[in-house]
Amino acid sequence: MTKLIFLGAPGAGKGTQAQILSQHLGIPHISTGEILREAITTQTPLGIKAKGFVDNGDLVPDELILDLIQERLGEKDAQKGWILDGFPRNVSQADFLVNLLQELNQVCNGVINFDVPDSVLLERLLSRGRKDDNEATISNRLFVYHQQTAPLIEYYKQHQLLINVNGDRELSQISEELETIVKS
Ligand code: AMP
Repeated sequence: MTKLIFLGAPGAGKGTQAQILSQHLGIPHISTGEILREAITTQTPLGIKAKGFVDNGDLVPDELILDLIQERLGEKDAQKGWILDGFPRNVSQADFLVNLLQELNQVCNGVINFDVPDSVLLERLLSRGRKDDNEATISNRLFVYHQQTAPLIEYYKQHQLLINVNGDRELSQISEELETIVKS
């Protein structure tokens, strides 16, 4: 498996695991959150438009994200594989991705869902210290996750792509399980 979506709440560990696995497989790790943070730091037009949403822990409007993903998945290094981390974040983004992959003649091999209880997420986010990891923003991001992103678990179950992984374990145990999954 070389074309994977990592799904999970903020703090579920999908970014860390995506980084490890993408390096191992030699494929790009595409994190929309990272792309947005970089755009905000360098004050590009995208960054300027996205800043308020990211600072509040709200989702950036789809129209800012969809073009970006379309362009990124069309790049040469994305042809042999990718790990999408933080995209899709709602059902309309997931629907867009179905059509985009069809257009690009690509197939998503699986969606890894990192399952972590809210109490553990909260603890992890509070100790992480990113700019959007303050208490008010964190609780909004968890709310937004449950409201808009969690429905994708059922969505991908219905598409027969969902693979559940217990994310409340040692980092290395999770990496090992992911390596086994991608070999299967
Ligand atoms: P992340 O690093 O994935 O936790 O994303 C950080 C922030 O970037 C989120 O709280 C959102 O404000 C924004 N963001 C990242 N990915 C998306 C997306 N696919 N759609 C909308 N907003 C996003």
